[in-house]
Amino acid sequence: MELDPKALALFTEGYDKILEGIGLLGFDVHDENFADTAKRAAKGLHELIHDQKQVRADVDALLAKTFPAKYTEMVISKHNTCFGMCPHHLLPVIYRISMAYIPTEKVLGLSKLSRLARLIARAPRLQEDLTHELADILHENLASQGSAVYIEGLHMCMAARGVGAHEARLVTSGVRGVFLELATREEFIKLVVAPPTTLV
Ligand SMILES: [Zn+2]
Repeated sequence: MELDPKALALFTEGYDKILEGIGLLGFDVHDENFADTAKRAAKGLHELIHDQKQVRADVDALLAKTFPAKYTEMVISKHNTCFGMCPHHLLPVIYRISMAYIPTEKVLGLSKLSRLARLIARAPRLQEDLTHELADILHENLASQGSAVYIEGLHMCMAARGVGAHEARLVTSGVRGVFLELATREEFIKLVVAPPTTLV
């Protein structure tokens, strides 16, 4: 994903200020370990916040390449590790995202679900909204019979500060179409919460 030079410059300016503040706390921010830190941190931040115009274009391109469906059972992509950010603290979130849909006419290529989750996750967005957005895309854009999304989030704002609850995971789920039926929803949840097995 391309970095926006204007956003990057503003992020760098912001981190220069943050370093000034860190200097007040007894740290020598002119030490060589801090040389170029503002620039590096700005780049790091930008990598967690994708330009939404580029994301939309990439998602459209990704969804444009589908295959005719021969299979009309549940397609699941589970335990995709993705990174995002909470809008309240601008601290990173590590997600484990599982998604499913039941095709009508078209299916996505194998790696596309993982790519889709990674594209959408990198934004300062509520986990709840991320869940709904993925469920909507897999239902509406794929014209599927239904979709389901299950996300566990490890939020640094809860783990590394505040309550320090690093063991807590925020769990959200969203269902559309045929997944609103209890049996289908239960099948999906049962499959995604099953303990990981060693495949190879
Ligand atoms: Zn937060």
